[in-house]
Amino acid sequence: MTRPIEALIHPHAIRHNYLNIKALAPDSRAFAVVKANAYGHGLLRTAQALHDADGFAILEMAGAIALREAGFTQPILLLEGVFSPEELQLAARHDLWLAVHEPRTLEWLENCALARPVTVFLKLNTGMNRLGFPAAQAAAIAARLQACANVAGVTLMTHFATADDPARGIAAQLACFDTAVAGLALPHSVANSAATVAYPETRRDWLRPGIVLYGSSPFETRSATQLGLQAAMTLRSRVIGTQQLRTGDTVGYGATFAAEQAMTIGIVACGYADGYPRHAPTGTPILVDGVRTRLLGRVSMDMLAVDLTALPQSGIGSEVELWGANLSIDEVAAAAGTIGYELMCAIAPRVPVITV
Ligand SMILES: *Cc1c(COP(=O)(O)O)cnc(C)c1O
Repeated sequence: MTRPIEALIHPHAIRHNYLNIKALAPDSRAFAVVKANAYGHGLLRTAQALHDADGFAILEMAGAIALREAGFTQPILLLEGVFSPEELQLAARHDLWLAVHEPRTLEWLENCALARPVTVFLKLNTGMNRLGFPAAQAAAIAARLQACANVAGVTLMTHFATADDPARGIAAQLACFDTAVAGLALPHSVANSAATVAYPETRRDWLRPGIVLYGSSPFETRSATQLGLQAAMTLRSRVIGTQQLRTGDTVGYGATFAAEQAMTIGIVACGYADGYPRHAPTGTPILVDGVRTRLLGRVSMDMLAVDLTALPQSGIGSEVELWGANLSIDEVAAAAGTIGYELMCAIAPRVPVITV
């Protein structure tokens, strides 16, 4: 037997989650957002689970081409567009759609010869202040794109900064977008996962759900279960050692946890070099043999400690779930001061991945 850690990927859950979002917005089409190796779940594995998705959205050119080479024929949108005239040629050759968010790409489109015209998403900045043309330029840029022989079609796009926060919402950004594009008879794409779920008015022609596909909630106040989502990844390992502590004994680097009574602890083959968050503190939930217990002390590179005091049947060989089907990744993320997105994207290459 090898080191017992593994990441289980659940394709049926990914599929369930995609259909769940589609059911909310039956009149929209939805890109499955599969950037960052499908948020750590494996690009091709995820795309296969969603083989009949309306489209895929990604930002790595190599991944987009890999999808085409694997036989996926639906629209593939490059969320950050292209980074050079050469990439524009590649995008056209592989029939990739691209975000156009800055003037350089516009000039490349106007001044090159492409194998075939490309479909573009004109990205407007409505307050996120990340990528996009100022919203007020929407009509002028759209006109230039529509006049361009290399452009097959234009969709208007923006991205929300606070769709996940009910206290702040999307109203100001959406009003900015709608004002800027009024009078342009072009399709829209504005909603990420949070907006799709929380704001029906954002369910326009093309949705862009990412995190919900993987069974994590974008909201602090609504759990994945409440949203009807299923976990797409289970990170599990086993107890590989135990220790008996006396009062005052400490655990791990920095001796940050001290026993206040006699305790049994288990040492789990999982550390930050596997992708478990090093900042998870004592008390972070962990399942051992299906029973909820807690992390103790600092997470090491390759190991962490769990409290087995109340689990007399558990010991070396016991199965440990770090997050997944029975313990929400969002709960672990919250304990570690981060979000599910970061944990799933950080699964390390040394962790074997199994599709179940
Ligand atoms: C990543 C991304 C999404 C998906 O966001 P989620 O919060 O994961 O749903 C949508 N649109 C753009 C432009 C993105 O970069």
